Amino acid sequence: METKYIFITGGVASSLGKGIISASLGKLLQARGYKITIQKFDPYINIDPGTLNPYEHGECYVTADGMETDLDLGHYERFTGIETSRDNSVTTGRIYLSVIERERRGDYLGKTIQVVPHITDEIKRRILLNATKQDLDFVITEIGGTIGDIESQPFLEAIRQLRWELGRNAINVHLTYVPYLAAAGELKTKPTQTSVKQLQGLGIQPEVLVLRTEHHLSDELRAKVAHFCNVDVEAVIQSQDLPSIYEVPVNMQHQGLDSICLKKMGVEVGPTPGLGPWRNFLERRKKATKVVRVGLVGKYDLQDAYKSILESLAHAGTYNDYKVKTTFINSEHITSENVEKQLEGMNGIVICPGFGTRGIEGKIIAAEYTRTHDIPTFGICLGMQMMVIEFARNVLGYKDANSAEMNPDTPHNVIDMMEEQKSITQKGGTMRLGAYECELVEGSRTWDAYGEETLIKERHRHRYEFNNRYQTEYEAHGMKCVGINPAANLVEIVEIPEKKWYIGTQFHPEYSSTVLNPHPLFMDFIKACIHGATEA
Ligand code: GLN
Repeated sequence: METKYIFITGGVASSLGKGIISASLGKLLQARGYKITIQKFDPYINIDPGTLNPYEHGECYVTADGMETDLDLGHYERFTGIETSRDNSVTTGRIYLSVIERERRGDYLGKTIQVVPHITDEIKRRILLNATKQDLDFVITEIGGTIGDIESQPFLEAIRQLRWELGRNAINVHLTYVPYLAAAGELKTKPTQTSVKQLQGLGIQPEVLVLRTEHHLSDELRAKVAHFCNVDVEAVIQSQDLPSIYEVPVNMQHQGLDSICLKKMGVEVGPTPGLGPWRNFLERRKKATKVVRVGLVGKYDLQDAYKSILESLAHAGTYNDYKVKTTFINSEHITSENVEKQLEGMNGIVICPGFGTRGIEGKIIAAEYTRTHDIPTFGICLGMQMMVIEFARNVLGYKDANSAEMNPDTPHNVIDMMEEQKSITQKGGTMRLGAYECELVEGSRTWDAYGEETLIKERHRHRYEFNNRYQTEYEAHGMKCVGINPAANLVEIVEIPEKKWYIGTQFHPEYSSTVLNPHPLFMDFIKACIHGATEA
């Protein structure tokens, strides 16, 4: 089959959940046995979101091949279980950079470089790139931003051209919002009509409309939208708020989002897949009503900053038949005096990743409290580093122990800059990124959690590392280095075996937990939290 392209655009407002719709459609096509990929094109000028504050853009998701990307790629992977790569996340910045590099090389000698055709050609090339490297039936391309943004214009022009060139092999699914005016008691379709008109003005006629709504949309209302937007009634789909994002694929399948897309591209629809394992997950999730409480100690009090951690905890909760109730605990407000109160009622604590000094003392105090009170604790990246510093200060007796990131002059730099990082001056895309191997120490708690596997691979995003000079001392005092990167001899995991569950990982296990394959460390951590909860 020739590769088919589905473009997902959004109108009316941002944050309507284009990423979830893209991931759901990908899931549904995958369930039909097709080879798919989902990619995101973002119209901002940063090369990648790696240098963005989470308040700007939520979590930065890291692919196995080491690209810092948009958090929607996390949804794509969690829904489909298919790894994405650097080809799946493209920004305006990357497009311009490659065009400008080519211009400097002299590839366009004599020519004026323009948005059309040079930038649009580069966008088109990147949209088609994944299918030139792998055999793919469907490529779903989500365009970031909202129709009408100045920044998205070149992307829409590229899509217009591709639709013309690819004919039936390309369609556009447009996601809009239907607001409910309480005072009038009415749902309003005008914003959707306006948004579609804008798209049409750019030469793009959407084949399918997905309408986000908080209320059920009647058949008449859908017919009205269809009529005004030149779209078939059966291709006007409603996406009403649901209790969980994981219910969206089932809802979309029920309304025929995948089958209508197939029809529009001239592909035989065939039988509807049962989505068995997916439905089992949803069933189990619904049945899991007993609660286990996990506190997230971090400095960003917004959900999106720790998206993958929250999802990983939720997956692990479901497969342990518990509901994980997470509480955000701002580490900037944790002091030795109030730590007991702040962590009260938590069955387990995650010490979150992060950068810079803000809130780190609170993380260290939390790590001390959970260690001395034997509360299950999972330190991730900076969280692991804070566990290591706490141990140095309070067990090894190095009161001034710190990370070189926080104090470059600290005499006890138990966390130090990695050797290969010392000569790096540029900030963007220069950390230790992506999946690296890690050898587990047999018999350790972590090894056990991974099902006695000895060689694992996990994704990283950091510049600093455990300082091996201190390893023997740590081990002698009970904190063991149980995961080592074989190539560079870097410590990737520490644990205190005598505690119920006190493990820190330099890598980010949260990037690889999926709905159908929960991550073993999160599974084991939640198990320990539940154990504590039921004992209490
Ligand atoms: N700031 C720390 C480092 O660069 C940890 C990074 C993180 O938590 N992702 O090593």
